[in-house]
Amino acid sequence: MSQAFDVVVIGGGPGGYIAAIRAAQLGFKVACIDEWKNAAGGPAPGGTCTNVGCIPSKALLQSSEHFEHANHHFADHGISTGKVTMDVAKMVGRKDAVVKQNNDGILYLFKKNKVTFFHGRGSFVAAADGGYQIKVAGAAEEVITGKQVVVATGSNARALPGVPFDEEHVLSNDGALRIGAVPKKLALIGSGVIGLEMGSVWRRLGADVTILEGLPTFLGAVDEQIAKEAKKAFDKQGLKIELGVKVGEIKTGKKGVNVAYTNAKGEAVSLDVDKLIVSIGRVPNTIGLNAEAVGLQLDERGAIVVDGDCKTNLPGVWAVGDVVRGPMLAHKAEEEGVAVAERMAGQHGHVNFNTIPWVIYTSPEIAWVGRTEQQLKADGVAYKAGTFPFLANGRARALGDTTGMVKFLADAKTDEILGVHIVGPMASELISEAVVAMEFKASAEDIARICHAHPSLSEATKEAALAVDKRTLNF
Ligand SMILES: Cc1cc2nc3c(=O)[nH]c(=O)nc-3n(C[C@H](O)[C@H](O)[C@H](O)COP(=O)(O)OP(=O)(O)OC[C@H]3O[C@@H](n4cnc5c(N)ncnc54)[C@H](O)[C@@H]3O)c2cc1C
Repeated sequence: MSQAFDVVVIGGGPGGYIAAIRAAQLGFKVACIDEWKNAAGGPAPGGTCTNVGCIPSKALLQSSEHFEHANHHFADHGISTGKVTMDVAKMVGRKDAVVKQNNDGILYLFKKNKVTFFHGRGSFVAAADGGYQIKVAGAAEEVITGKQVVVATGSNARALPGVPFDEEHVLSNDGALRIGAVPKKLALIGSGVIGLEMGSVWRRLGADVTILEGLPTFLGAVDEQIAKEAKKAFDKQGLKIELGVKVGEIKTGKKGVNVAYTNAKGEAVSLDVDKLIVSIGRVPNTIGLNAEAVGLQLDERGAIVVDGDCKTNLPGVWAVGDVVRGPMLAHKAEEEGVAVAERMAGQHGHVNFNTIPWVIYTSPEIAWVGRTEQQLKADGVAYKAGTFPFLANGRARALGDTTGMVKFLADAKTDEILGVHIVGPMASELISEAVVAMEFKASAEDIARICHAHPSLSEATKEAALAVDKRTLNF
């Protein structure tokens, strides 16, 4: 007899595994199916985020930043090291170990929360007995049933038309995270989050990096003033970013890749590189889900159609994370996973799309929440702006990293915070205060009057809030 569950979650990335744990906490009998395999063929839950996304990219960013500091900044502190070398295999091995810790952590959490884990591909068979039959194809094949199903099958890297990933010369995020030696010349197509983070890793390690971007503006979704400041820093570091290019033919040979493109001036350029990373976005993944068997509705992009509550067109079937609309971010997937589990239990799960933070983990880091200045202008909202540079922050000076600023945007009349934008050291951590403030509908004055530890980078946040009322104390 097939095993019967209250809830079957298909996909064990941040959307799926968190939905499974929260559903189990709420008393449901839960199964989670995930097909990701580690190098030995064993289970590796955690999805793109854990295996080839958030976690490994941050591990490599950390290693390469240490290398950059040892090479270029230790001397300022009186530390001399002699010649600093990088063992790329060891760096990649450390990254793999960090990934494994996270995979094992999720398997432990499943046990702790009594979630039954299945390693294999889950696909719809048919609707049955007020629920659904789901086939699990792993080492063995079996059919289980779920009264409710959560689809959290994530996304895959988008390839350029006619240029498939070979992960040897033309790399997706997967190949980009396991390059075995520092390439002399590296090109990336796409200057979004992934392009900038991967480009930074290999530039710090010594590669000559060119990022080609089709759009004429740099980081169009980011506040213009912040994007401009970040671009200045990247230019100074030697990260070559060409905007407004039109990529033409891409030829792969034994030695590397030739990228033909037209630059913003209309000149034809031929670029020879050892490796090419294509980071032009991601596509929702429903491969092998057999959505047709039950009539699960997809849109023209291949995303599962859901309403504001993550309900699909089928009763009892929900979908969360990268496979549905909205930003492709791990924490967005997690919040949807929690909200769906709570809705299944008759509670009022809620995701506030207006306070989802965004982070780019380059150096300087870029982080923001809420609306940008250009969005407020377009929406016709009257606002006040306040900025504070890290140059005037004592902790940033002590750290030796004074690039960037904190910027507040507040309603001109009510002073409610409408957006906070940061470029600079530890922006990824600093943004949390702004998220909390916006979630509680705080005013800039509220932040300006809260006592912040001295010396800390967070004082720049307080000062930017003071700047909204033109009364900074340290600038
Ligand atoms: C290089 C890179 C860096 C990133 N960095 C960040 C970051 O710093 N911060 C951030 O918020 N986001 C980051 N992201 C995005 C983040 O990884 C995704 O938004 C997040 O992983 C989405 O979670 P998910 O659960 O929807 O899907 P996924 O993480 O993609 O998980 C889906 C899982 O479902 C499994 N699966 C698919 N189909 C089936 C099936 N039929 N049966 C069984 N299993 C199946 C897959 O194998 C996978 O394990 C990054 C992405 C990349 C590529």
